[in-house]
Amino acid sequence: MKILIVGSGGREHAIAWKVAQSPKAEKIYCAPGNAGIAGIAECVNIGAMEFDRLVSFAKENEIDLTIVGMDDPLVGGIVDVFEAEGLRVFGPRKNAAVLEGSKAFSKDLMKKYNIPTAAYETFEEPEAALQYLEHAEFPIVLKADGLALGKGVLICSTLEEARAGVKEIMLDKKFGTAGNQMVIEEFMTGREVSVLSFVDGKIVKTMASAQDHKRAKDGDQGLNTGGMGNFSPTPFYTREVDEFCQKYIFQPTVDAMAAEGRPFKGVIFFGLMLTASGPKVLEYNARFGDPEAQVVLPRMKNDMIEVIEACIDGTLDQVDLQFTDEAAVCVVLASDGYPVSYEKGFPVRGLDHFTGKDGYYVFHAGTKFNEKGEIVTNGGRVLGVTALGEDLKAARANAYRAVELVDFDNKYFRHDIGKAIDEA
Ligand code: ATP
Repeated sequence: MKILIVGSGGREHAIAWKVAQSPKAEKIYCAPGNAGIAGIAECVNIGAMEFDRLVSFAKENEIDLTIVGMDDPLVGGIVDVFEAEGLRVFGPRKNAAVLEGSKAFSKDLMKKYNIPTAAYETFEEPEAALQYLEHAEFPIVLKADGLALGKGVLICSTLEEARAGVKEIMLDKKFGTAGNQMVIEEFMTGREVSVLSFVDGKIVKTMASAQDHKRAKDGDQGLNTGGMGNFSPTPFYTREVDEFCQKYIFQPTVDAMAAEGRPFKGVIFFGLMLTASGPKVLEYNARFGDPEAQVVLPRMKNDMIEVIEACIDGTLDQVDLQFTDEAAVCVVLASDGYPVSYEKGFPVRGLDHFTGKDGYYVFHAGTKFNEKGEIVTNGGRVLGVTALGEDLKAARANAYRAVELVDFDNKYFRHDIGKAIDEA
């Protein structure tokens, strides 16, 4: 089969790497891809939002299957455009990707179908939001409705902060049209875990659990980032938690989408908070998480293409999803200064140590080739170094050893990824 992957981050590298192991994959293309993906796929210089060019490329090159990794094209309706042209594509249609694309939609869905989540109100007018805040309890959480690169969530400790937040989101339009509506939500405390799942429109099969480290600095200090590393499985996602989530969150979400005439096919990322009163949904994403894909896919035993085809064909019930008993830890190597400002263009050394056969892998996020053909840094998050181990401690030690094999100027990473396990 000829496969096209749409996206350019560490997640798409992990997807391409996993797809490449399938005997069904004859040729893999990635649009636009990055310097690491270029090692296993032919990168094509077409942006993820250039739907017409992607469709033309898929037709001209007789692509059998397109896999969309990123949220923007999914929420923008890339799957509908491909399907209208008779092309086989993996991901939710626009009317289902709204599960991630609109927080007001997802909150209303959860309320209607009794799926546990934080109490909330939605607002279309800033005045009404401000009035509501007068009687609210703090801290409180403000969320821009639409996609905001993970930055549209403000946790406000005081009324003053919350007022300023409403202004930023709804009046100053800091996140553009994402702030046309806003959700104001109860602040929850607990551990955050993520569960990725495959969905075929009717049923859901969950992958291994993972736990993310979003803050830039050790000890969960500093600014929020796209993710500085994570690990899988997380010991906090116990069998009891899983039973609860399968019964009250995962399948009910898929059933709710089907009942609304929005059958979801693709990957749902369940962001969960394990609160004292049980697991609750923090957020849904309509695609693999990044870097979650980088710890979950190396543990998956199945042929990725077979699972994806089962999702598209509605035959996921026939798939026995299996994961190794090993643990995986991913440490993100970033450019110093991320997520605020950082320099780019530094050569990356030591990549040849990663042969993909030793239980440690490097997935590229922000890299490119310079004019001399060298791989150089090209983003805030540069690489994800993932290692497997017999348990989380071993995986963590392996990951930090592997981190030393690769180097570039201004390399920055957290030293405590997976440390939560020591407290378990
Ligand atoms: P991303 O796409 O980066 O995951 P997002 O913009 O979709 O982020 P959320 O995941 O909803 O936003 O929220 C981001 C973070 O804010 C969460 O991971 C969590 O740490 C915190 N958060 C969100 N909602 C709540 C809440 N109700 N109570 C406490 N913390 C919250």
